[in-house]
Amino acid sequence: MKMAKYINVLYDNGDEIPLSNETKEYLSKMLGFSWDRPVWDGTISVPDLPRDESLLRELRKYVSEERISVEPEQRVIHSLGKSSLEFINLMHGKIPDPVDAVIFPRESEIEELMRSCGKIDAVFTVTGGRTSVTGGVACKSGHKTVCIDTSNLKDLTFSESMITAGAGLTGKEIEDAIEKKGFTCGFFPESFRYSTVGGWISTKATGQESNTYGDIEDIVSGVKIARKGSIISEKALPRNSAGPSAVSIVLGAEGQNGVILSANMKIFRKPEKRHFSTVFFRSFHDAINAISEMDRYPTVLRVMDETETSVSLLEINRKTRDRLRRYLRLRGTVDGSLGIIVNNGEKFGRIRGSVSVGSSGAKSWYEGRYLRPRMANSLWKRGIISDTMETSAFWDSVERIHSETISAFHKTVRENQGTGMIMAHLSHQYLEGSCIYFTFLINGEKPDMLLKHVREVMIQVILDNGGSITHHHGLGSSFHEYVDGGKRNLFSELRDEKMVWKWK
Ligand SMILES: Cc1cc2nc3c(=O)[nH]c(=O)nc-3n(C[C@H](O)[C@H](O)[C@H](O)COP(=O)(O)OP(=O)(O)OC[C@H]3O[C@@H](n4cnc5c(N)ncnc54)[C@H](O)[C@@H]3O)c2cc1C
Repeated sequence: MKMAKYINVLYDNGDEIPLSNETKEYLSKMLGFSWDRPVWDGTISVPDLPRDESLLRELRKYVSEERISVEPEQRVIHSLGKSSLEFINLMHGKIPDPVDAVIFPRESEIEELMRSCGKIDAVFTVTGGRTSVTGGVACKSGHKTVCIDTSNLKDLTFSESMITAGAGLTGKEIEDAIEKKGFTCGFFPESFRYSTVGGWISTKATGQESNTYGDIEDIVSGVKIARKGSIISEKALPRNSAGPSAVSIVLGAEGQNGVILSANMKIFRKPEKRHFSTVFFRSFHDAINAISEMDRYPTVLRVMDETETSVSLLEINRKTRDRLRRYLRLRGTVDGSLGIIVNNGEKFGRIRGSVSVGSSGAKSWYEGRYLRPRMANSLWKRGIISDTMETSAFWDSVERIHSETISAFHKTVRENQGTGMIMAHLSHQYLEGSCIYFTFLINGEKPDMLLKHVREVMIQVILDNGGSITHHHGLGSSFHEYVDGGKRNLFSELRDEKMVWKWK
């Protein structure tokens, strides 16, 4: 008899970060659950799955045997991202339709496979770190499906002031390699430890330091891609006007227009100094007004609304918090809006209306910035749905989107007999507008339906008020239906017929 296999699907194998008792009490009260009674440990049991021997025989012609897997565990892992709906299903024992095989090919094997893949009776999907939070990994297509795992695409070379990075390199791997030479790529998404170059380009991602270094489209100047029957390779150059760039074919295409093998990326001298500052504004409204008038921004400017501010303050000890509140009351900013400022290089000048309270808050945010997903682990283990939604909007609609989205959220949660809380911060600034990043937690009898209703309402309010469907998480299966007709056609015209088509 075969033994069932168990895998943990949470971040870092389910590790949690210690939280203050006050945070735990606050969340339990707001969402109506008991912190001491976890309902899930994050593991799922993987079923036995039939092997497709004919597919295996086909794949062996192109990929070495040891880099092919039809093990159920690998097939399930490679069919999963990190979206809330996936977690809800997993928590209730629902496993996604798995891919039929997983391959871990070398670059030359992918090239060979794509050159001749018309001959294989299967379609391909690609995964990097599988950190998509929008259902961008799940993909069962009605065909035999093979997942190309990019973890063997790890070459990294320097050319002039650029690097050419294998698509499977994570942010951490790139930075570890180039920081010794005094450089940085400037790309630091919160998923930095797991997400990959190929994933960043495919989802049009952005890093937390985008105000200084730019979004992924500013950092990547060329790619090598493998499509059905062809390999397209762009030289590493500062700029090139020789026709359309291959980057435009794969940027934001979510793995449907070919396999990204490597990318030419800008690098920057590592900053000699980094300046931290924690500030408070009288209100989120005042903060938005002040920031919208600025003509340049610090490397990181993260300004939280009143709810996110009060939740963040629960993590500092009561004595320090009381002292801080007394000081803020004197300065007229108590119960206001917290701002984290990190500037590479010199101290950033004072932002109008802000009150500085030193550097330690900003420093501790910076030091813990990649461990935050572990807080989501704590919530998932207690059956609480933790999700995010981010949009980009012109300055004149930022405040309206923020307040109307929050009202619509609460109304929808109430109407569906759930409990919930929502908070937001501004995370990436542009002269024209900003990214508004919502985090929401919900609890209810039918979590999948509650999530569906809340999401639908939030996205509609955002769109009606002039915001974008997404600022940096991509579309995935969660948001594809909101893409307007013209753009949907563009996607299908560019698509590679051997790649999984995820947007029905
Ligand atoms: C905790 C957490 C924090 C996050 N923080 C951020 C953030 O700060 N900024 C941000 O932008 N996003 C963030 N995300 C979302 C996610 O990390 C990004 O969307 C990221 O770009 C996905 O990269 P990945 O390597 O994990 O790709 P995957 O999730 O594996 O795949 C995502 C999509 O890219 C395609 N793809 C992957 N590799 C290739 C390739 N080589 N060729 C063609 N297609 C490919 C896949 O088919 C899929 O459609 C976060 C996610 C989590 C879970």
